[in-house]
Amino acid sequence: LTKVAIVGRPNVGKSALFNRLIGRKKAIIHETPGTTRDRNDHEVSWRDKNFIATDTAGWSTDISAFSKDMSRQLDIAVEKSDIVLFVVDGKTGAHPTDVQIAQQIRLKRKKTILVVNKIDTQAEEIKGYEFYELGFDDVIFVSANHGRSVHDLLDKIWENIKYDRKEKNTWKTLKIILVGKPNVGKSSFINTVAKEERSIVHDTPGTTRDSLTARIQSDGKEYILTDTAGLHRGNKTKDGMEYLSNLSTGHAIEDADVAVLIADASQGIGETEVKIARLLLEKKKPVIVTVNKWDLIEEKEEAAKYFTGQLRERIKFMNWADIIFISAKTGQRLGRIFQEAKLVFEQYSKQLTKEELNDVIRDALAKKPYTNKGRTLKIKEYVQATSKPPVFIFSVNDTDLVHFSYERFLENCLRAKFDFHGTPIVLKFRNYY
Ligand code: GDP
Repeated sequence: LTKVAIVGRPNVGKSALFNRLIGRKKAIIHETPGTTRDRNDHEVSWRDKNFIATDTAGWSTDISAFSKDMSRQLDIAVEKSDIVLFVVDGKTGAHPTDVQIAQQIRLKRKKTILVVNKIDTQAEEIKGYEFYELGFDDVIFVSANHGRSVHDLLDKIWENIKYDRKEKNTWKTLKIILVGKPNVGKSSFINTVAKEERSIVHDTPGTTRDSLTARIQSDGKEYILTDTAGLHRGNKTKDGMEYLSNLSTGHAIEDADVAVLIADASQGIGETEVKIARLLLEKKKPVIVTVNKWDLIEEKEEAAKYFTGQLRERIKFMNWADIIFISAKTGQRLGRIFQEAKLVFEQYSKQLTKEELNDVIRDALAKKPYTNKGRTLKIKEYVQATSKPPVFIFSVNDTDLVHFSYERFLENCLRAKFDFHGTPIVLKFRNYY
């Protein structure tokens, strides 16, 4: 986990800030300068990331000067951290000790955010301007006691937390939902997999929410495969519309991690498949597109070309999804669906760092400066706000300038660089003030 150290001379409000960050209700604040306490570590969750906040209050009893002792402790704290919150007192103004601490921190070349504390109102921010002279680019005015701008500080920390690549594999269970109109082979799929894996299939006939479920273990992971609920098994018509309305009103898609859209090779890609795909896109789920009953196809190579063309044409808006030809009857390539589900879920969970995003956006802007109605679109800020699905927020000079084609262009740039195959990504634009 990323370590965030809170440093600064005594009595600037380090412990109050620490308490604010960790969300402790009753802040233990020592009013006596230099009160000695132990170092304090605490895990903090903000949005989808965690970090360790370290409070280094109580280093020194000598507040009049920058002592050797203080200097040594500062070195240790900064050395051990990934991000440094350098706290200063906005009420008293810059102290010579602040200057010395600043110099020492800079030598370590760690990401540093200068936190000007005790700024209780916006009007008071002007008092803190002198701290810009300490030479840090990232400056934020907060009030630890009142909680003012503490969320902005957390956002700044969040932006600088490197996404831990190992995190993407921490999931234990993946819920896969099979969607496709009646008779495409959903229950056959589940039964075949269950037979091969000797898994148990649960079936609840007669109820309106009957569905099949199979649990499969593989590589220490569990996959829960379900057929869409909401179909009357007893009255299994060829009614794709009824299926679709059940699918769109129920929670089956929301509950799943990955959706497998199944088309029938003996029937081709019709209106129902397109509608199901639209629904999946609306719900922002990762998708694998499959064509089942592949065992019935004789000229496989030609058919593969034909189906791929048809899918890419009719479901253009999902051109990021892979297409896999399967047979629920013979079991052909069913195993690949699980491998693929794992991969697309990883793409769906991906969180880009600020630096990664910088590179691609800078390239995109250089490649295609965008003007509309004689004005140039300017992207002032951007961030990946969440994963699952990946959501990117762009702060621009005027959202009216953002055209669909430009949105597409940005999406393509992100996909070209960071893959994101199998997952939708969301781009949001807002005005920058
Ligand atoms: P569901 O309504 O989507 O659950 O479809 P079912 O699994 O009940 O399958 C409908 C029909 O298609 C059944 O008669 C299956 O035997 C048949 N079927 C399913 N998958 C395949 C396949 O891969 N190949 C062939 N030849 N038939 C299949």
